Amino acid sequence: MRYQRSSVLFAEAKKYIPGGVNSPVRAFKAVGGEPIFIKEAKGAYLYDEDDNQYIDYIASWGPLILGHAYQPVLDAVIEKAKKGTSFGIPTEIETELAKLAVGMVPNIDKIRFVNSGTEACMSAVRLARGFTGRDKIIKFAGCYHGHSDAFLIQAGSGAVTFGSPNSPGVTQGTAKDTLLANYNDLEGVKALSEANKGEIAAIIIEPVAGNMGCIIPSDSFIKGLRELCTQEGILLLFDEVMTGFRLGKGGAQEALNINADMVMFGKVIGGGLPVGAFAARAEIMAHLAPEGPVYQAGTLSGNPLAMSAGLAMLTALDSKPEIFTSLAEKTEFLHKGIAEVLTEKGIAHQINRFGSMVSVHFCEEPVVDFASSAKGNNDTFKRYFHGMLDQGIYLPPSAFESYFLNDAISYSDLAKTIEAVRKVF
Ligand SMILES: *Cc1c(COP(=O)(O)O)cnc(C)c1O
Repeated sequence: MRYQRSSVLFAEAKKYIPGGVNSPVRAFKAVGGEPIFIKEAKGAYLYDEDDNQYIDYIASWGPLILGHAYQPVLDAVIEKAKKGTSFGIPTEIETELAKLAVGMVPNIDKIRFVNSGTEACMSAVRLARGFTGRDKIIKFAGCYHGHSDAFLIQAGSGAVTFGSPNSPGVTQGTAKDTLLANYNDLEGVKALSEANKGEIAAIIIEPVAGNMGCIIPSDSFIKGLRELCTQEGILLLFDEVMTGFRLGKGGAQEALNINADMVMFGKVIGGGLPVGAFAARAEIMAHLAPEGPVYQAGTLSGNPLAMSAGLAMLTALDSKPEIFTSLAEKTEFLHKGIAEVLTEKGIAHQINRFGSMVSVHFCEEPVVDFASSAKGNNDTFKRYFHGMLDQGIYLPPSAFESYFLNDAISYSDLAKTIEAVRKVF
């Protein structure tokens, strides 16, 4: 049996870990079946506990943009570990990574490191509230900003009033400060802003969305948000946890040519170790403790192993910016190849792509927001996902996730992937 040992390990995991996983999407609930357990990985390939090989299109959900077990990152972490793993006292490497990141990303002067994208977004919103003296935020349906309470909100009864919790455990009190809008719907945002004038601290957005498939903001939408924020004294928060150091050195701000007021990072910035960060111009960051009154802290924040992985990763990207172009070209090749097969087979589809992010949606209409993304045919998606898995291609196990290409994927891997799509259908 192809997945025998994974299946045994999953059964054992479920005895001690809720659902057998430490993050829900790993459990394959959206596609059925059971997750594979990974033994090791190198370059473009994952190897599971049954010794099956996979071309990996998720790269740990984005961080491993240069492939698995990238040597400079491994070397940096191993060398650092020999000198101790954590001190809770300042180290020089924190400044080195901060200086490099601030130099690569437009429009930020200072950066604070945390341990995850969730923490980065949660802390950025607190700082935005502290800075503006306002309570409410606007988020977009289908955008993911981590699992902190303020973001686990769905549209409430009156969309222009306030949201309601979409997870038990999130209070109505928290939900009332999060307003929901639809992606690519500037008029909806303007209506919310009008109805809550002077009360909105921040608009938080995935500048290119990756958590409802890959969704691209229209030019007028993203420019309109910038103008509205400037006009109303609202801070524009770009959640670049996915897009940062992936769409280019300067992330989505650079790719879309839009300046955000605050930027949040995760994934690539840690090179595969747990790092998140949030950054802004000095005037805003001055409100953060210990410089200012907005509290934020972390025992393992700026951890030397995590910083060394991030530093090795960003150093590589900073010195080889052509990687972003070559990744985008590979992604385009994949997009065109898959589209050709699906068209030839008469399967309704939409493929969205931006840089090295791409997603395949089995539906007729363009996918521009959460509602249109949700119209995808999930039976076709499941058949596609498992058909690809069985042929050694690891895709995100949910139609609401983007693929993340990594530099180790070769054109022959891409051609093999396209052929696998042909076999599935
Ligand atoms: C992954 C992700 C997060 C959360 O990051 P974690 O490190 O999983 O907490 C936040 N925002 C976006 C856009 C993400 O893709």
